[in-house]
Amino acid sequence: LSERDGWIWLDGEWLRWRDATVHLGTHTLHYGLGCFEGIRCYAGADGAAIFRLDEHLARLEGSARLLGIEIPFSRAALHEACVEAMRRNGLTEGYLRPLVFLGDERLGMDPAGLSVRVGVMAMPWGRYLGADALTHGVRVKVSTWARQHPNAYPCRAKAIGGYTTAILAAREARADGYDEAVLLDTEGFVAEGPGENVFIVRGGEILEPEVTVALDGITRRTLHALAADLGYPVRAARLTRDDLVLADELFFCGTAVEVTPIVEVDRRRVGDGTPGPITRALQSRYFACVKGEVPAHADWLTPIR
Ligand code: PMP
Repeated sequence: LSERDGWIWLDGEWLRWRDATVHLGTHTLHYGLGCFEGIRCYAGADGAAIFRLDEHLARLEGSARLLGIEIPFSRAALHEACVEAMRRNGLTEGYLRPLVFLGDERLGMDPAGLSVRVGVMAMPWGRYLGADALTHGVRVKVSTWARQHPNAYPCRAKAIGGYTTAILAAREARADGYDEAVLLDTEGFVAEGPGENVFIVRGGEILEPEVTVALDGITRRTLHALAADLGYPVRAARLTRDDLVLADELFFCGTAVEVTPIVEVDRRRVGDGTPGPITRALQSRYFACVKGEVPAHADWLTPIR
C-alpha cells in the first residue's frame, strides 16, 4: 500500500503518499488505542459524491470521545480533508480512511499528554467480499469468537482494538472454507459480522439484532430509511443462531460490503439458497441511492467537485 503515487492528509498537511509514515515508537502501534472510519465515494450520473460523510465523521468523534481522545481538528477540517483526498488523488470512486492515533512521545500505557494524530487516506476499493458476493451471496460461519462484551470494550466506538477479535473471526471462517463470519455476543445472541451488520428477513418483516454490542452502522441506518421507502417494516430483536438458519433471507450491510446477501449459514442453505427478493430490492435501492439516483436522499451525498 505504501508504494504508490498520490497524496495523504496527515495532521493538517498534505504529504506525498510514500512519505506518510510513522515512527516505531508510535503509541497506537503498541497498544491499539485509536479509532477510524471507512467511507465510500461513488461516481454517479451527476458526478462523484461521498456517501454520508458527516454521519461518518460524527461517529469518528463519538469513537474518540469513548476512548478519551480529543481530536485536534474540527468536523469541517476533516470534511474538507476527505473531499480533497478524493480530488487530489484523482479518484471519483473509492474508499476513505480517516484514522485517529496517538503519537510517539513515549511508551507506557498512560496516553496522557501524547499528541493526537489524524490522517486521511483515499484509495480505490473494489467489492469487499469478492466480485460475485453481491450477486450470488456469501457463505458464513457462526464464529467461535464472540463480539466483545460492552464492559470489556466500548462497542459503540469504531475503535482499532475491536478489530483483533474481528480479524480472528474472519480468518477462522476463511480457513474453514467460508466467506465470512457472524459473531454472537457473549450471551449467545447474534451480534454482527467482523466488519458488517446483519439483517434477517422473516415473513415479510426485516429483523436486526438490537444494537447493544454491534457497531451502530451507518449503512444499517440507511437501510432503515430505504426499507421504509419500500414499505417493509424493520424491527430490532434478540436473535439467535437458529434465527439465522431459519430466516427466509439474510444479508450483511456495511460501507465496505454494501448490501451482500448471505445464502448459507454453517453449511445450511438460507431460504432456497439464493439471494431473496427483499434483499435484492434493498440492494438495488441502496446502489441507486449512493449513485445519486434517489432525489429524496440527495442530502446524504457530498459532491466532490
Ligand atoms: N460492524 C463493524 C464491526 C464494522 O466494522 C462495520 C464497518 N464500519 C459495520 C458494522 C458497518 O458499519 P457502516 O455501515 O457504518 O460501515
